[in-house]
Amino acid sequence: MANIAVAKFGGTSVATHQAMSRCAAIIKAKSTRTLVVVSAPAGVTNHLVSLSQPGLDLQEQSETIQAIRTIVFNIIDDLSQRDAAEQIGDQVENILADLTVRAASQSLQFDAQNADSILACGEQMSSLVFAQVLNELDVPAQSFDVRRVMKTNSLYSKAVVDIEQVAQLTQSILAPLLDNQVVVTQGFIGQDGLGNTTTLGRGGSDYSAAILAEALVAENLEIWTDVEGIFTTDPRITAQAKSIPEISFGEAAEMATFGAKILHPATLIPAMRKNIPVFVGSSKAPEKGGTRIQQSVESSPTYRSIALRREQSLVTVRSPEMLHASGFLAKVFSILAKHELSVDLITTSEISVAMTFDNPTSNAQALITHEVVKELEQLCEVSVEHGLSLVAVIGNGLHAAKALGSSIFEKINDFNIRLICHGASANNICFLVPESDANSVVSQLHNTLFD
Ligand code: ASP
Ligand code: MG
Repeated sequence: MANIAVAKFGGTSVATHQAMSRCAAIIKAKSTRTLVVVSAPAGVTNHLVSLSQPGLDLQEQSETIQAIRTIVFNIIDDLSQRDAAEQIGDQVENILADLTVRAASQSLQFDAQNADSILACGEQMSSLVFAQVLNELDVPAQSFDVRRVMKTNSLYSKAVVDIEQVAQLTQSILAPLLDNQVVVTQGFIGQDGLGNTTTLGRGGSDYSAAILAEALVAENLEIWTDVEGIFTTDPRITAQAKSIPEISFGEAAEMATFGAKILHPATLIPAMRKNIPVFVGSSKAPEKGGTRIQQSVESSPTYRSIALRREQSLVTVRSPEMLHASGFLAKVFSILAKHELSVDLITTSEISVAMTFDNPTSNAQALITHEVVKELEQLCEVSVEHGLSLVAVIGNGLHAAKALGSSIFEKINDFNIRLICHGASANNICFLVPESDANSVVSQLHNTLFD
């Protein structure tokens, strides 16, 4: 039997009973067999993150758990079938009791494995409640522990999924369940070979949904969020931003990578592998449509959108030894690889190389550490600049487009451009600007490219 849809609902879509009911109505209207993947209700994962860090005193722990309880019970209290609601309430209390013990141990000492079990609680509670919201709309539904199929390695907090094992287990265990009911499962979480709970990284539910869609060879993957699809740029930067009806995998992947917050960057990879169209829409206004992402699209405009990624660091390494030498880059990159640093943009000249890195200050420790710099300094001169933003113009045929100068750079003549990357990808041109100019650059460029 074909015709399976996978529908993922993000945190704001499952934040309240009303929000969950809107999502349930979307599912009820479907004629296909459906797997639902849910995030934790908005706010819950952030609370869980604080519980997963050491140092909270008892009062802080209990206040945080209480805040989570309030969010989840606000939903449960609005369920109409009281018996079922009570049962779910008990299951949620069990999860919270376990969470209390885990948080206490975590407050004394950080343990990555325990941290992932803490983080996983939000999605577990969410899926229990969501299945009941569907039942109340007369949609037969059952919640399913995704850890039975979502097998990963033990890299806690950013576990790597074993795609083949997931496909096999999903086919044998999960797929048959879809024949008689909607199955509601958790995004973001998995299980390693030791039976421990793992997580796939913040925002990982989109990716979970895509992995499951791939495993089921689904007909489509729907990502329901709180915005009406993918926009030509972040609507908070310019009110001129509009939703894009249709976009290719290649373009959307570039957008996700370069900072459009709408999809977890890895989401499209499984969908692309199995050529599964992805729809992004707002669960608050499903009638308004959204964005369809697929292999081939009718229009391939040169300019499709502008993405912005803040908090970039630029590292320039310079070595006269590079002159006519070979192997220098390999040495530089082996240091970066050792520190698991991923380079985004790179430009080179004869004796220097400039590279950009995502360097969010919210990371407890900035990624470009002293240690990395010191190690690079054994090889070459190193300079590090912070406070930059990466602007990515996304489109088609950009590697060979005409009039880039007048279309793009002339329009932002007044700004300092720190580095330009062009030519490697048909789908983007990227450059760095000072953080303080980023919004102006994007809105000015948006006005000229899209009006
Ligand atoms: N709840 C997790 C987070 O907030 C995963 C997700 O929503 O995608 O990061
Ligand atoms: Mg999310």
